[in-house]
Amino acid sequence: MDATAVETLLRDLLIALGEDPTRPGLADTPARVTRFFTEFLGHEAGTTDTTFEYQAEGEGCVAVGGIRTASLCEHHLLPFTVEAVVAYAPVDRVLGLSKLVRIAHRHAHKLQLQERLGAEIAEDVARLTGSKQVAVWMVGDHSCMVARGVRAHGTRTATEYLLKPLAADMAAVERLRRVAALAGGAR
Ligand SMILES: [Zn+2]
Repeated sequence: MDATAVETLLRDLLIALGEDPTRPGLADTPARVTRFFTEFLGHEAGTTDTTFEYQAEGEGCVAVGGIRTASLCEHHLLPFTVEAVVAYAPVDRVLGLSKLVRIAHRHAHKLQLQERLGAEIAEDVARLTGSKQVAVWMVGDHSCMVARGVRAHGTRTATEYLLKPLAADMAAVERLRRVAALAGGAR
């Protein structure tokens, strides 16, 4: 990211919006917003995702619910927050539980759509664990819905993403839904 260019453009944006970027309330705004973008979009590059071996006679599922993260809507550059539940059926590896949270943050901290966020989290969990049974449910609050013309206060947006092979296996989906509900979230 070119922080200098971003700061200059933000100052120009204030002028274009008819504001005086030198007035006290706005003087530090371009630098402050640039710091926000730098921190938010530069989140967690290069962290490792630990997996552990998993061997069991029966069949298991894992779900982590209550994962709250914030993202930026790529259509309006306005924030949205989501609460996610990630569920998967491990084959021979499980992910460290906190890694699921980290994966959610990693994919949230960019210009994003709620629909794609769920898909990216699921694909990452599948890639790291080798599982083909991964599902992500999310409920989101979009400030672009609240602040723009529709003024849709109190609306919530729910999404479900099922990894492709899983979508054809309703019994497996139901199994994941059950553990996800225990984790407090499959809607
Ligand atoms: Zn939006």
